Amino acid sequence: MTKQISINEFVLNISDGKPYLVGGKCLDCENYTFPIMPGCPKCAGTRIEKAKLGDQGKLWAWTVQGFPPKSPPYLGENDPEKFKSFGVGYVELPEVIVETRLTENEPAKLSEGMNMELKLEHLYTNGEGEEVMTYAFSPID
Ligand SMILES: [Zn+2]
Repeated sequence: MTKQISINEFVLNISDGKPYLVGGKCLDCENYTFPIMPGCPKCAGTRIEKAKLGDQGKLWAWTVQGFPPKSPPYLGENDPEKFKSFGVGYVELPEVIVETRLTENEPAKLSEGMNMELKLEHLYTNGEGEEVMTYAFSPID
């Protein structure tokens, strides 16, 4: 079986069985951020710990990325012939609102306030043959 690795283990943990996003929690005011930041934007506190974020939330604003993002920094397919459009949006988790890729790319299938859950998406295969996985949110119901 091909080994799957996280695109960035500071934001996405896939090694504990069930994938989850990793955010930051301020120990002074309990404010969450995603991704984790060295300082709290709310109270300027610096006592931040890693926090496992909920894997379900509600869709806020979204759009569809219809052409390959600039590469670098984008690591996925950037050949316009092979590129598949994908949704991007904001999902409100219990702790914090995250900016994320969406598994759905048809505007008619997305609506504000719909329930979404975390999924893994294959982004590319690296030089060692490992599948590099990123996170995306998918509609549920
Ligand atoms: Zn704080």
